[in-house]
Amino acid sequence: MNEDKKHTAKSDMSYGYIAENIKTVQSNILSACKLSERYPEEVTLIAVSKTMPVSALREAYDCGCRHFGENKVQELVDKYEQLPKDIKWHMIGHLQRNKVKYIIDKAYLIHGVDSLRLAEEISREAVKKNVVAHILIEVNIAQEESKFGIKKEEAAALIENISKLPSIQVEGLMTIAPYVENSEENRQYFVSLRQLSVDIMKKNNDNVSMNVLSMGMTGDYEVAVEEGATYVRVGTGIFGDRHYNS
Ligand SMILES: *Cc1c(COP(=O)(O)O)cnc(C)c1O
Repeated sequence: MNEDKKHTAKSDMSYGYIAENIKTVQSNILSACKLSERYPEEVTLIAVSKTMPVSALREAYDCGCRHFGENKVQELVDKYEQLPKDIKWHMIGHLQRNKVKYIIDKAYLIHGVDSLRLAEEISREAVKKNVVAHILIEVNIAQEESKFGIKKEEAAALIENISKLPSIQVEGLMTIAPYVENSEENRQYFVSLRQLSVDIMKKNNDNVSMNVLSMGMTGDYEVAVEEGATYVRVGTGIFGDRHYNS
């Protein structure tokens, strides 16, 4: 897909390529922090491990990765069972309401909340399991038709409604920017998401903080960091190309 880009990860399966990729990504994040005068501690790398075997996650874990992102409930649960318990699991995919119960006590952060009905289900299951669910609101900031996420204009009202629910904490915003050849094209969207989070913060809703901005993927995470990302979600840049066989 992006073979001619400098971000393309090595994926020749030779032992150690994951370690090398992680080092590269981390040093790119560091450079982006320097450029934008941010503290590197403010930015956490999520290794997006969907479709990857447990052995690949283990290799990333051995390099110090503790944040992993999955987009399927069953896969997250399976890997959760097999890997060390100090891993923080990020549910980054679109979550169906009938599956909330399986991950409510396993997900460290649920990134893709874009409706009150889903938030209500998360709240209900969190109360049942006696945990507090931490969520991000997904905003379709580029208004792409194919994407999940709410419109920018709907965010404040949705968040205010969610803030009234028990056992749920809104930590910030998440977006999936368009796929572009030149990451600079996405800078405007990252700026816009950050501005939106500042506007929402001013409303001072209970149970709402806007400390988290989850934005930036393999193709554009450096620009996202420059514009304020606190989580970047990098998959192919760490693990190489994904192979879907079903
Ligand atoms: C797959 C995925 C990523 C990682 O994408 P890459 O381009 O491989 O880095 C990030 N965020 C979400 C929501 C994803 O589904």
